[in-house]
Amino acid sequence: MKFIFTFLLIHLLFLFPMQVENTTYDAIIIGGSYAGLSAAMGLGRSLFKVLIIDAGERCNKMVVHSHNLITHDGSAPGEVAAKAKEQVLKYKTVEFLNGKVVSAVKK
Ligand SMILES: Cc1cc2nc3c(=O)[nH]c(=O)nc-3n(C[C@H](O)[C@H](O)[C@H](O)COP(=O)(O)OP(=O)(O)OC[C@H]3O[C@@H](n4cnc5c(N)ncnc54)[C@H](O)[C@@H]3O)c2cc1C
Repeated sequence: MKFIFTFLLIHLLFLFPMQVENTTYDAIIIGGSYAGLSAAMGLGRSLFKVLIIDAGERCNKMVVHSHNLITHDGSAPGEVAAKAKEQVLKYKTVEFLNGKVVSAVKK
């Protein structure tokens, strides 16, 4: 079910690229896992308008327990990522889009 949902969203992004084309962002972050969300939090808190685009394919998505992550030793990586996303999206300056970036054009 999750796969079908992600698949549909990726294809919707292909079909309706205007969804993000008409909006200007200070930063567009490709990848909305730990690194992307951390970057977005720093930028969003500094009042930069940020868009995160994420394909939902964390490299550790098959992992059951995380280790060596302080305060989260033994936690499920998906829960850590979900909590991070929840906290980052509390900032009104940050938007999140499910989809895969397939090209970028310099203007
Ligand atoms: C099996 C395994 C076990 C691990 N165990 C631990 C551990 O116990 N403790 C620990 O500290 N670390 C562990 N790690 C390392 C940890 O998972 C990584 O350091 C961490 O996930 C890196 O975060 P990241 O945000 O850079 O990348 P990722 O978590 O991989 O996220 C990258 C994101 O970018 C998205 N993306 C990529 N390209 C595009 C595109 N073109 N368009 C849209 N989105 C895109 C992907 O879909 C994904 O959501 C483990 C890794 C693996 C593989």
